[in-house]
Amino acid sequence: MITVIDGPAGSGKSSTARAVADRLEIEYLDSGALYRAITLLYLQAHRNETAFFQLLQQKEISFCYRDRQFHIEIDGRPVTDRIRTPRVAEHVSKVAAMRDVRAFVNRLMREAVADGVYIAEGRDLGTAVFPDADLKFYMSADIKQRARRRYEERKPDNPDLTFEEVKQNIEQRDRKDSRRKTDPLKKAEDAIAIDTTNLSFEQQVDQICLHITNLMKS
Ligand code: C5P
Repeated sequence: MITVIDGPAGSGKSSTARAVADRLEIEYLDSGALYRAITLLYLQAHRNETAFFQLLQQKEISFCYRDRQFHIEIDGRPVTDRIRTPRVAEHVSKVAAMRDVRAFVNRLMREAVADGVYIAEGRDLGTAVFPDADLKFYMSADIKQRARRRYEERKPDNPDLTFEEVKQNIEQRDRKDSRRKTDPLKKAEDAIAIDTTNLSFEQQVDQICLHITNLMKS
């Protein structure tokens, strides 16, 4: 069984999906983290696309959800702490727009969820990756609210970060993510829309848990 949450950066998808996974004791899959890990390879290849695709073929990417964190390893080395830097945020949407990268990530995700009960979050899960998902949600919130959440989340580890910088990065990524040719960010027609601007975190989590438990009972 799979539940998906799509939506723009900072809409609350990750924290909500993790809280739902913990409360219902199901698995969690963070597709953005996979694109971020692959962006590390792009940067390692000095942004040379030929060298990057060679690296991508050679590397083994593994992931799991444990201790309330989505862990990613490349060739057995943890990269979880390296994927949230401003540098990765700056390049990830370009990398994620590459058709072959999307095909690679989609395959990884479909293989992972073949067994078990999952909640996964991203941009195109309900439209392109799991069009037959059991439940689909689309989370959104106004840009200032989203930028504030990201800023507060990142500031402790990045003391030089400014609110404006975070807001601009989010706006730029939203633009790239929703305008790209391959699998752009958009709400699936059958997704349940949740605007989180004026919802408390608990309310978001409750709404989604209720839908999942109702479905599990039926
Ligand atoms: O969710 P997060 O902000 O970590 O995602 C990072 C980037 O990965 C997004 O801005 C987007 O470019 C890309 N992404 C995507 N498709 C997904 C998930 C993330 O293109 N399903």
